[in-house]
Amino acid sequence: MDYFKGFKMVPAVREIFDEATDEILMNLQAEFFSSRFGYMGVSDEDGHLLISSYYLKEGNVRDLYLDVIHELIHVRQFKEGKELFDESVEYVDRPTEVEAYKHAVKEARRLGMSDDEIVEYLKVTWLSEEEVRRLAKNVGVKVVRKPSQGLRARIS
Ligand SMILES: [Zn+2]
Repeated sequence: MDYFKGFKMVPAVREIFDEATDEILMNLQAEFFSSRFGYMGVSDEDGHLLISSYYLKEGNVRDLYLDVIHELIHVRQFKEGKELFDESVEYVDRPTEVEAYKHAVKEARRLGMSDDEIVEYLKVTWLSEEEVRRLAKNVGVKVVRKPSQGLRARIS
């Protein structure tokens, strides 16, 4: 509520928490860490939000917005008692990630982003081209052209 003002009014957020939106966001703690690595995440210990202050400063606003939408799905999943980081399933196939990405992709489309632009958004430093393609497929995004060489880091 203090750092990401107005999110409680965003329909994509209200869709996640429904009637509990105000209460959950009011009680959601945001922890900022200073590292050039990492973007955002949710603690699997108590479900609070973790944000790289470097990413917050340097990241693209649209990406940051979509990332918050993505992370809020993890906040709900944590409250539902789901295991957020099930290492037995690869990141791009993990049901908790696919659900979070699907919701962010839906919002990206509402913002008018094309599938090409969404694929660019999906390219994060720790994913290979093949994994980006698989993630895109898992979340219903069409990869038309071959992803460019080298991942565009969202931070640096
Ligand atoms: Zn995630």
